[in-house]
Amino acid sequence: MRVQATLSFAMKVAPEGATRVSILLKTMRVWREAVRHVVDYVIRTRQTGLAKVHHALYRLLRERYGLPARLATDAIRQGIWIAKGWLKNPKRGRRPVIRSLWMVLTPKNSYTFKAHDEVSILTLDGRRTYKLCYVERWHGQYRGWKPKEARLVFKDRRLWLKVVVEHEVPLIEPEGILGVDVNYTNITMSDGTRLELNAFKRAHGLKIEAERIQKKHRKSWRYIRAVRSRIKALGARARNIIIDACRKIGLEAAKHAYKARRAIVLEDLTGLKEANRKGRTARTWRARLALWAYRELQKWIEWKAHLYGVPVFKVSPRGTSSICPNCGSRLRSMGNRRLKCPVCSLEGDRDLIAAINLGMRGAQATLMAPDANETPRAMKGKLKMGAIARPPFLTA
Ligand SMILES: [Zn+2]
Repeated sequence: MRVQATLSFAMKVAPEGATRVSILLKTMRVWREAVRHVVDYVIRTRQTGLAKVHHALYRLLRERYGLPARLATDAIRQGIWIAKGWLKNPKRGRRPVIRSLWMVLTPKNSYTFKAHDEVSILTLDGRRTYKLCYVERWHGQYRGWKPKEARLVFKDRRLWLKVVVEHEVPLIEPEGILGVDVNYTNITMSDGTRLELNAFKRAHGLKIEAERIQKKHRKSWRYIRAVRSRIKALGARARNIIIDACRKIGLEAAKHAYKARRAIVLEDLTGLKEANRKGRTARTWRARLALWAYRELQKWIEWKAHLYGVPVFKVSPRGTSSICPNCGSRLRSMGNRRLKCPVCSLEGDRDLIAAINLGMRGAQATLMAPDANETPRAMKGKLKMGAIARPPFLTA
């Protein structure tokens, strides 16, 4: 399976490299002019075919703007793409304006990695080499991945290189299915593994704190800078806490499935989104936070699972925490998040039952046999992460 990631590198600017950077910035400005030119042409003539636009503008971009061949071609492609997006949009407003400074780069043609922290970029003045800020802990994970399209971005007075990298991950041959139920305080898997999650609660606590401050300065909080920035900081911290926890839990869940050689089954949250749009759910802040956090967590589980070659399926969550996985009867609540079946007297934890139901639905959907030993037993407790063999592509 093909997996892609986007890597951001800040560009290192040595004092003696100032002219090299200015030629790069100049190239970006000229390229932006060229893209604007293409956008105007496409909108004016309604000509969106690459060959036709290329024929009409290529020489002009080369001669008037002095762009190297590859940069001219990329400007044409980008211009067509932007103009097409605008033409296709029935609710289009003013013509598209390209304000920010960025440039598209094509691997081998307009940029090449010379070393893991060194890149050669095509400019108006030929190819120039630039040093990148390389962080082993972060960028090192993607060593050996194949660089695809990149973007040079000038933002916050710094130059960034954003590279899409791609890797072919061998899919595992799953021997079973692992239902994963995402909750506010834990994620529970159908094999009885539970990962505690207190980040959502902590984030909620910070939001309550922010609301308390808002109430205290009911009329003025928007205008007092210190109060406003305090509220903003609390929000940012809540967000970071959640993303951080999601990343870690996503990794643990993926590793667990990889080790057990099982495909992951998640609940499909698209239905929840629909309900949200109609204003039926997620009115309270807590509900909105939970919805966003669930999606974030799912995103990370999926992403980490992809890195390990673990297949991920999504199934409808309807009724997963109210129907008996044994006989299909409606379960009764026993309090304390425990459920009991009045027909077959199966009894178990609500989250575990939901996870098992998800797993069974996934098994039906994929025609894979669910684990015969999987019944709602007592919790096995927290997952212990032992020495798990890393897949070969991560150690390389
Ligand atoms: Zn039953």
